[in-house]
Amino acid sequence: MNPAVWVQRHGKRRPDEAALADGDRVHATWGVFAGRVSAVAAGLRNELGLVPGDRVAIVMRNRPEYLEALYAIWHAGLVAVPVNARLHPDEIRYILTNCGARLVVADDQHAGDVGSLIGSVESLEALLVAPGERWQRLAGSSPMDLAERRPEDPAWLFYTSGTTGRPKGATLTNRNLLVMSLSYFADIDWISPRDSILHAGPLSHGAGLYGLPHVARGALSVIPASGGADPDEVSAALARWQGVSFFAAPTMIKRLVESRSVVDGDLSGLKTIIYGGAPMYLADLEDALEVFGPRLAQIYGQGETPMTITALSKEDHAERGDARWTQRMQSVGTARTDVSVRVTGEQGEELPVGEVGEVTVRGDVVMAGYWNDPEATADALRGGWLYTGDLGSFDADGYLTLRDRSKDLIISGGMNIYPREVEETLLRHGGVRSACVVGRPDAKWGEAVVAFIVPADTDAPLSTDELERVCLEHVARYKRPKEYRFVESLPTNNYGKVVKRELRDRLLRDQGRAGPDRDPPAAGAG
Ligand code: AMP
Repeated sequence: MNPAVWVQRHGKRRPDEAALADGDRVHATWGVFAGRVSAVAAGLRNELGLVPGDRVAIVMRNRPEYLEALYAIWHAGLVAVPVNARLHPDEIRYILTNCGARLVVADDQHAGDVGSLIGSVESLEALLVAPGERWQRLAGSSPMDLAERRPEDPAWLFYTSGTTGRPKGATLTNRNLLVMSLSYFADIDWISPRDSILHAGPLSHGAGLYGLPHVARGALSVIPASGGADPDEVSAALARWQGVSFFAAPTMIKRLVESRSVVDGDLSGLKTIIYGGAPMYLADLEDALEVFGPRLAQIYGQGETPMTITALSKEDHAERGDARWTQRMQSVGTARTDVSVRVTGEQGEELPVGEVGEVTVRGDVVMAGYWNDPEATADALRGGWLYTGDLGSFDADGYLTLRDRSKDLIISGGMNIYPREVEETLLRHGGVRSACVVGRPDAKWGEAVVAFIVPADTDAPLSTDELERVCLEHVARYKRPKEYRFVESLPTNNYGKVVKRELRDRLLRDQGRAGPDRDPPAAGAG
């Protein structure tokens, strides 16, 4: 089983129909896409000497060549490692080392940074710039036959950050990707070859995963010209293409709803907006339904069980007359067709309806484990169940409501930020005795990162500029605290552990006093 077979099948079945679009123009038909994929695959195997199972990282902004590279990697029997291109070079180096990548495919913009890692990442032998001269040459190779892969072979290493702050590679097999795609048809939407998927979010994450069921059905993949989620471009794509679906974080939906070009635009091309990845506030959802109609579906998932734990269907959104509608809109929906979902207690026992516990999942979509990390794997996969780290409860009708994200993950602008990583970075500054990072609700970003700092020397004031500099040196820009608070000590419990909840409550109290969404007093750098 190899997902690249879909490209070849559509290459034969509908060679002249559009497969990939760049903004408002067709980049490749299925015939061209299939030809390029099998030729580049041949180049990867024959010219670059890669062998089945080798890892190939992709560090690129969204562009059509991303999909050509992804499917060529699979066609050749290799394992794709899509890396968030916004990460800091140190973070990228860690991922490439951890997965033992032999090749990295990058666009022009990232080629310099990524190329400089050859030498410091032992396994890394080459950089392939796409598009570029060598890429063109590979695309001219004589095509190779599709490499046969077993369902249990790894296909996509999906790097998520761990609670320790270190990224972990969820090993997604061919079977995982197939089941994820089939379950999209079962629970979200049936897709026709006349439909389109708009890649408004990074292809290295949820948006990329949801590209698969669309490629499987021969739908068009549209990449916005800017590679991102600009509301004007989304609006233009909805007017230009038909049957358009896209995946968006709640913060992005809010931006779209606030955009005049979207609200006043021609929405006839819109099929479905799939939102998820973070909580969606009810008021925002109501605004979105007002603008888009019941064309929204919510999914709750994780990299470890790609995009598939529960869903709140378009039908659920449409049943406004139901007395339970408001409550349901605040849930993450019901268990997906292909998985068992339980809420479990401390000993792994299943808890009754209404009780809050850890959400655990079992099914063929659940990852094989974390790449090269048996300890983390043993922690996440126990007795055949994936422990998600999320806390929630079921109601009597089978709707799951998430109560809290355990593990203290902060989600800002749709991006996951792990506090520990930022804390460790701040602690690199000699003037910091302890640091604690939490999220505060923020109307624009969903959550904003706030750092509580205990200075090492109370007589020597610390400047936020210096802390900012340390962050810029070691972590991606979007992870920097938006606010610093200098305190004498951090609240701790009997075991000496910092009680983050107290700090969050403090921020909420101050925010309440300052009025909604205004920065509290005593704020430092932003
Ligand atoms: P990631 O692995 O980066 O996709 O992050 C997954 C985490 O995002 C989950 O474990 C949840 O904590 C959170 N999450 C995903 N979907 C939702 C949703 N629909 N509502 C609330 N939180 C979500």
